Amino acid sequence: MEDRKKIMLRTSWISVLGNAFLSLLKIVTGIVSGSLAVLSDGLDSASDVFTSLIILIATPIISRPPNSKYVYGQEKAENMASTILSFVIFFMGCQIFITSLGKIIHHEITELSLLAVWVTIISIIGKLLLALYQFYQGKRVNSSMLKANAVNMRNDVIISAGVLLGLGFTFLLKLPILDPIIAMLIGLYIVYSAVGIFKDANLVLMDGVRDTSIYREIIEAVEKVSGAYNPHRIRSRHVGNMYTIVLDIEVDGNLLLKEAHHIAQAVEDSIKHSIDNVYDIVVHVEPKGFVHEEEKFGVNKDNL
Ligand SMILES: [Zn+2]
Repeated sequence: MEDRKKIMLRTSWISVLGNAFLSLLKIVTGIVSGSLAVLSDGLDSASDVFTSLIILIATPIISRPPNSKYVYGQEKAENMASTILSFVIFFMGCQIFITSLGKIIHHEITELSLLAVWVTIISIIGKLLLALYQFYQGKRVNSSMLKANAVNMRNDVIISAGVLLGLGFTFLLKLPILDPIIAMLIGLYIVYSAVGIFKDANLVLMDGVRDTSIYREIIEAVEKVSGAYNPHRIRSRHVGNMYTIVLDIEVDGNLLLKEAHHIAQAVEDSIKHSIDNVYDIVVHVEPKGFVHEEEKFGVNKDNL
């Protein structure tokens, strides 16, 4: 286990440092060579550096054990940080878009230097190597975080390839306007990814679940237990990448308490058996046919 954590940390740090180097190189080159596309590409890489850094910085807070004030632990610190970060990335994307549009409208198109081409080629090769490394290590220790990081870097390679194509056309066709147009597209892409980060973090903060098929799995798990009927008011939310689950079941009202408890325990075990990453389950037991005054929340077979 310790080995896995070490590999993950080392891989993340290599990603941070590699990306930071490429990002800085592109930002400086973008400014020096006058290429907005290269500058935007560099800013996009910088946002990835911040994202990886947040995971590394938030890790000590996230892994704090639960206490009487934070009984569910403090894993949502990561989602809070992601939300703040998404605003930074969003405004950065808007800024790139507006600046590029301004350059086009005001015909402030500058001649580019060949330096931009070389740095973009270096960036593509560097990112490709980083992405392969992340993917290899992610597969080795089976980390979805590292694999997601690898996919993100592969997208960066696509962006840089687009920049290179634009630069190529700029030099071959003498069409310098292509550069701010590509920068605008990158700006839009950055805004789009910021919205994605915001939505994903807020889903967790607002007690939603990413995949609602979990409710079908819970109902199926309850149906496997004999003596447990009508699972309803099922609620689930995320604690980190785990689930907390609360549900009501009905049992024969004439059972002894210890028999009813045995069924509730079996329901808990059955759910844990069919769903990975369960943090906690609470099963509320009612006599068969019990009618609630009002069912305000949760999922049952009818409203799934
Ligand atoms: Zn109930």
